[in-house]
Amino acid sequence: MVTGDNSQVVPTENVCVAEEPRILCVIRDMIDPNAAGSRQTINLPASSSIGDVIDEISKSTRYIASSINIKYNKHVAAEMEEISLYTCANQKLSDICMLGTRRHEFTVVEKEDTLPQKLSEIPPAPDPPSYDSVASTSSSYISGSTATNDTVSTYPDSGYTYASIMLKSETGYVGLVNQAMTCYLNSLIQTLYMTPEFRNALYRWEFDGSEDEAFKSIPYQLQKLFLQLQTSKKRAVETTELTRSFGWDSSEVWQQHDVQELCRVMFDALESKWRNTDQANLINHLYQGKMKDYVKCLECKNESARVDAYLDIPLVIRPFGSQTTYVSVEEAIDAFVHPEILNDTNQYFCEKCNKNVMPIRDLNLRRSPTS
Ligand SMILES: [Zn+2]
Repeated sequence: MVTGDNSQVVPTENVCVAEEPRILCVIRDMIDPNAAGSRQTINLPASSSIGDVIDEISKSTRYIASSINIKYNKHVAAEMEEISLYTCANQKLSDICMLGTRRHEFTVVEKEDTLPQKLSEIPPAPDPPSYDSVASTSSSYISGSTATNDTVSTYPDSGYTYASIMLKSETGYVGLVNQAMTCYLNSLIQTLYMTPEFRNALYRWEFDGSEDEAFKSIPYQLQKLFLQLQTSKKRAVETTELTRSFGWDSSEVWQQHDVQELCRVMFDALESKWRNTDQANLINHLYQGKMKDYVKCLECKNESARVDAYLDIPLVIRPFGSQTTYVSVEEAIDAFVHPEILNDTNQYFCEKCNKNVMPIRDLNLRRSPTS
């Protein structure tokens, strides 16, 4: 597909975060060892940061993370070494645990100078969470002693904690904040992000302009957003810098734009940056298909056809006048290519019959993208 640089930042095979190696962690609460639930197990991805592990253990044991110490009991041969998680918060779980060992034991113990505190059961109603104010840097999140962990509390009647709302979803994927009416933009970005060939291509491109140009560069802002989607510890990230690069002010995010038009604007910006590079043809390669649009005379079967290239096809969700929606993309595509008999107002002059006729119009998808 793309020649030259073969480095694949994102595997092009189907990759699911859930399929990565996981580590079975046994948590023992040594502060209250006889309490119900003093021994629990959690199954975490091997790539979890120790900061994530601290947060998970805090949630499952209901202790405020900064008020306890958590130790990993590392068995090497007949020796056991205790490692405090707070001393290696910047590492990954797989750095301290040996993969292949069936289970790993963590103990929750008292801190020398602090009394262990439980997360409050009936907290005051919290302020609405702000996506900017919490966990904005990895260090404040990892340290376990900042507002992020101290203010973990339960929303009344919901069972949700701040942590479960603010921190990355257990699926490993990061969401996009809806600025106002930008859900169509978010769907488009997530779709492009989940196309490994597209994501790799965007990562391979290097921005070489000034700071001022970076502000207005759609490809640069999209690249930055993809990186956030891949590495952020937040549950969702903002799209404001990207929409600013479109030249939109805040009133425009309140307008419903056309997703098809937006997709073209983005593809045009990328194509102009990728011109004369080995990625010049990437958008067409990934997304362009061809369709034959033809009109056929029902009397003599003579047809007049034209082949058009497309980058997207508009599919109907609920046919005009119908109460029910199509149930699948396949069904909507079937409807899209279903021949229609044109009515009186669309009469067409058949040269063979030498008269106006009522034709049948049909679309035929000649080539689907990447085939
Ligand atoms: Zn005819």
